[in-house]
Amino acid sequence: MGRLRIVSEFAAVRWMRPLRTRSAVSRRQRRLLRRHLRFLRRSSAHFAALLEARGFHDLPLMDKKVMMERFDEINTVGASRDEALALALANERSRDFGADLGRNSVGLSSGTSGHRGLFLVSPAERDAWVGAVLARTLPRGRLTGHRIALFLRADNTLYESVGSRAVSFRYFDVYADMGENVRALLEYEPTILVAPPSVLRRIVRAAEAGGFPFVPEKVYAVAEVLELADERRIAEALGQDIVHQLYQCTEGFLAHTCERGVLHLNEDAVLVEREELGGGRFVPIVTDLRRRAQPIVRYRLGDVLRARSRPCDCGSALLAIDRIEGREGDTLLLARADGSLLPVFADVMARALLHADGFDEYRVRQTGASRLEIALDILDDRSRGRVEGEVNALADRLGFARPVIDFAPYLHDGTAKLRRVVRDWGDESW
Ligand SMILES: [Zn+2]
Repeated sequence: MGRLRIVSEFAAVRWMRPLRTRSAVSRRQRRLLRRHLRFLRRSSAHFAALLEARGFHDLPLMDKKVMMERFDEINTVGASRDEALALALANERSRDFGADLGRNSVGLSSGTSGHRGLFLVSPAERDAWVGAVLARTLPRGRLTGHRIALFLRADNTLYESVGSRAVSFRYFDVYADMGENVRALLEYEPTILVAPPSVLRRIVRAAEAGGFPFVPEKVYAVAEVLELADERRIAEALGQDIVHQLYQCTEGFLAHTCERGVLHLNEDAVLVEREELGGGRFVPIVTDLRRRAQPIVRYRLGDVLRARSRPCDCGSALLAIDRIEGREGDTLLLARADGSLLPVFADVMARALLHADGFDEYRVRQTGASRLEIALDILDDRSRGRVEGEVNALADRLGFARPVIDFAPYLHDGTAKLRRVVRDWGDESW
């Protein structure tokens, strides 16, 4: 099933679409967009109605809330939200992801923003996804004989569809006992290891204790923001020059790292408009130019990305990204002396704490206009003093008032997404 579609997508992404100039990128996007809009007028009740009165660039922005409210009118395969949601929840509960909705797969996104997201993909889209992911991940040179270990929160039939002699996949459950996972991993000897940073850090701890004497060819961080400190530690402990990233969410496969370790947006299939925040930072507004079962059109993601100021040396014209800085709702809003609020990006706080030492794990939570709760795994006078010093130095440098810091013990939580910097105060966006 679908193997031909996987192979053809693989070949197209890997060899046939070298987009070397920005004009080649926009030519391709314009062509795909025209075709996609024709499809939407024909097949999506929601978009057909909207497109009657306006063009693409005047379409209202979508988000998770709109997607959930208008799910039945947006999707083009006649799926009902309640039915899809019930099936996805049942799959999640049984952790047996075999049940599909007709020929389509459904799943829940483990969103960080509190809303529950629902995704729906057709078999053709699933194959295209697998082909694109393989094209972006398999190392140069040898293409066959790879064993890919995937640690994911929710599996679905997606990952089983590609087991073959050329490439084998094994799915590891992030909820399973980590010691057992590490043992199974050693037995499998993956050439490519794909996992969220929170899981990679637990494998790193095993490696640092001598319990993981194995070097995969490539390591991929997925599904969570990869902090700089984690990136260094993972690279070192697992013997990698680069920790690669796949920026993949319910809304699509949005970016991948090139052989130089630089993130590039997958603009060969996704159109990304930018809501500029200044300093190269922006919130992406995403249109997936090929996804049809559940169209993603002018969808505003809550993430903050930072564009690179110069193009990447690898020669790709796909937009290069310096960092994914985290959820927009996790941008801290700290009070200046006059009471006005200053946005402090999650990444800026994480970077400041790189300079503090005396602890291994931390979490920062903003609980008031000028109040932070900082949890540390090693909580003593020294670690407290170092953290306080760095936060105050950052305050003085950026111009917000030195906040009150409440220190707390760090609690390990393997089931939650790792978000080191969180804002639990004020409005969702700013
Ligand atoms: Zn590059």
